[in-house]
Amino acid sequence: MNRLPAWIEPRAAYVHIPFCAHHCGYCDFAVSVGQDSLMPLYVDALSAELARLETPRRVDTIFIGGGTPTHLALRELGRVLQAIQQWLPLNSGGEFSIESNPESLNAATCELLADAGVTRVSVGVQSFQPHLLKALDRVHRYEQIPQALDAVRAAGLELSLDLIFGAPGATLADWECDLNAAIAYKTEHLSTYGLTYEKGTPLWKDRERGRLFPVTEDDELAMYEFGIDRLASAGLDQYEVSNFAKAGHRCRHNEHYWANNAYFGFGVGAARYVNFSRELNVRNTSDYIRKILAGDSVAFQSERLSPLERAYETLAVQLRRTEGIHCESFEQQTGFAFEPLVCDRLPALHEQGLLTRTESALCLTRSGRRLADAIIEDLLKAKPTPASRRPLPRREG
Ligand code: SF4
Repeated sequence: MNRLPAWIEPRAAYVHIPFCAHHCGYCDFAVSVGQDSLMPLYVDALSAELARLETPRRVDTIFIGGGTPTHLALRELGRVLQAIQQWLPLNSGGEFSIESNPESLNAATCELLADAGVTRVSVGVQSFQPHLLKALDRVHRYEQIPQALDAVRAAGLELSLDLIFGAPGATLADWECDLNAAIAYKTEHLSTYGLTYEKGTPLWKDRERGRLFPVTEDDELAMYEFGIDRLASAGLDQYEVSNFAKAGHRCRHNEHYWANNAYFGFGVGAARYVNFSRELNVRNTSDYIRKILAGDSVAFQSERLSPLERAYETLAVQLRRTEGIHCESFEQQTGFAFEPLVCDRLPALHEQGLLTRTESALCLTRSGRRLADAIIEDLLKAKPTPASRRPLPRREG
């Protein structure tokens, strides 16, 4: 059967679980802490939102994210997995990921996940060192990490780890220690993020009041660079600004986002991109439950992008990939040749050694990757030339 391209027909689905055991000091997500009594009602509402699909939709990737999805009581987690199996059957060979944290991951949870067809668990370890877990205001203890990761392995699930570098007081030696520990667990996939001080969070307030001292920009950069080399030497290649994987173990779900493909989204605060429209669900858990159970729409923001806006958006996300933007497929996907879209910015970025152009692709250089956000922001300010639009025959949803 011929399938429509993945940027038109969603082949990826995201399901959001907002509950967490504790609100970490650096996190500005709208998480539900101390509201565990809402779990059964939330799962009722989530199941009802999935049932609004009316017919099951086959997908290639599913990602249950949060929050901390495994913080759900086992019974409620089982109901979420059942509803997903009913409404979002996974194609053969598909990828089914779930996010988790060490304090909520044990043998019983991992067995339930494996039995329901989950293929990989992404664990928010953040650091293997007690003093850095404390600096990050994480709730899990160092001792909980080994048993959690062993449970993932015992259930035959793939492992992905999240690590944060540049916590207050962290040194390059600390970072090397964390990378070595992740490598020792033979993780197939690793996401590394520099700590950001989001406005209004407790860590941001502590920094403003001089109660903590962030690492310097130079030190953070050195950690980022060190990570790329250390991980490559362990067979984990960088395939996106913050993501590394062994061969054949990239996160295919996130690759849909970085290709600017269509995707479904369910749950409080979830985003979806279907029929070239971006929609966002309400961010308050009680509002979400109330609206769904009353039969109302939960989308509070909806925007259909113009073809030009879509082209710029595609450029911005695809440039995050190490492989960059493939000229031909970009044009096929967006209807625009990308070069005229950004031509007034390209020479300078090229001269500074931040971008490289091959016959078939445009990508960030290694030095460009560490400045990815600023470069992308700059490219988005470019003015398209009239020659950028090529009328291509293609179907729009
Ligand atoms: S566990 Fe993750 S989502 Fe929950 S509060 Fe901490 S950082 Fe935020």
